[in-house]
Amino acid sequence: MAPRGADLAHWWQCAPSGQVVVDEQGSMLQVNQTLSDWLGRPVEQLINRPVSELFTVEARMLYQGALAFQLIDVGAVDEVHLSLRLENGEALPVLCSARLVGAQHAPITLLSLLPIARKNQLERELLQARQAAQQALEEKQAVIAELEAMRALLETHNHSLKTHNSSLETHNKELQHLTLKLGHEARSDPLTGLPNRRHFDLALQERLARVAVNRHSDIFSVAILDIDHFKPINDLHGHGVGDQVLQQLAKLLASQLRGRDIAARIGGEEFALLMPETSLDEACNALERLRRAIETYRWQPVPITASLGVTGYLPGDTSESIMARADRALYTAKHLGRNHVAKG
Ligand code: GH3
Ligand code: MG
Ligand code: MG
Repeated sequence: MAPRGADLAHWWQCAPSGQVVVDEQGSMLQVNQTLSDWLGRPVEQLINRPVSELFTVEARMLYQGALAFQLIDVGAVDEVHLSLRLENGEALPVLCSARLVGAQHAPITLLSLLPIARKNQLERELLQARQAAQQALEEKQAVIAELEAMRALLETHNHSLKTHNSSLETHNKELQHLTLKLGHEARSDPLTGLPNRRHFDLALQERLARVAVNRHSDIFSVAILDIDHFKPINDLHGHGVGDQVLQQLAKLLASQLRGRDIAARIGGEEFALLMPETSLDEACNALERLRRAIETYRWQPVPITASLGVTGYLPGDTSESIMARADRALYTAKHLGRNHVAKG
C-alpha cells in the first residue's frame, strides 16, 4: 500500500537527519522536527529566517561563499563539513548535502544535515594515536642518537686508551728488562758470572720449602768447596792470577755439574753446590769425580786442588743447619790433608 501524504510528512519530520527546504532568496520554508530538536529552537522561529542563521560564523561563510555558488552551478553539493550553531552556544558538526530542485523560475534547495560528532571523535582519537606513535618514534630516535653518541665517545676513549696502553706496554717491557737485569746482577758474582751467595741462599730456601709440601723431593745434598792454599797463589803470582784461577774453576764447575745442580761463589775462594734429588752417597761419588777433575785440570799458570765437605738433607733441617754441617765436613777434609771429599 502506497504511503499517504500525512505519513510521509510525519516521517520527514522525524527522519534521522536535519532537513531544510530553502527558497530562492535563501530563507527557510520548512525545517523538520529533528533539526529543530538539535538546535533547541522551535520550528516556527526558524521559518522564513535566512538559512545561514543555522550555522556558526565560519560555517556561514563557507555556505554562502562556496556551497551556494556550487549549487547554482551544478545543482548538487555533497558532504560539505559545516557546523550548526545550537541555542546553548555550542557547535554541532554536520555533513551537509544539498539539491537544487523545482522549476527554473522558482527553484528551491533541499538541505540534508547529518551530524558527524562521532566521526570527529574517531578522527580525534586517530590523530591522538598518530601523535603518540610519532612521539614514541621521536623518543626512540633520540635514544638511538644518544647511544650512537656514546658509542662514538667510547670509540674515541678506546683509541686513546690503546695509544696509552701501547706506550705503557713499552714502558713496562723496559721496566721488566731492567728488573730482570738488576735481579740478575743482584744474584750473580761479577768475577765468575756464577750465582752469588744470595742466589744460593734463596735456592736452598726454595728447596727446603718444596720438601715441606712434597716428601718425595726431600733427597738433596749440599757441598762447600774451598781452594787449597789459595793465599800463597795470590801472594806469589799476584791477585790477577788468583782471579784467573777463580774464573777457570767456575767454568770447570759449570762443565762438571748436572744441569739441575747449582754452583755458586759464596766467598773469596769458596763455592757452594746444591744438588737436588741426589743422595749423600751419589753426591760423594760426583764430588769425588769433581775433586779429581780439579786435580788433573791443566791450570794456567798454577795448578790448584780443592777440598769439599758434603752433607745430605735431614728431616727438620734449616739452611743454617745444612750449611753448618757442610762447613764442618769441609773442615774435616782440610784436616785429612786437603784435596779430599768429606761427609758431614
Ligand atoms: P786453605 O787451604 O786453608 O783454604 O788455605 P787458603 O790460603 O786457601 O785459605 P785462606 O782463607 O787463608 O785464604 C783465602 C784467600 O783467598 C785469601 C784471599 O787473598 C784470597 N781471596 C779471597 N777473595 C779473592 C778474590 O776475589 N780474588 C783473589 N785473587 N783472591 C781472593
Ligand atoms: Mg777459604
Ligand atoms: Mg782456601
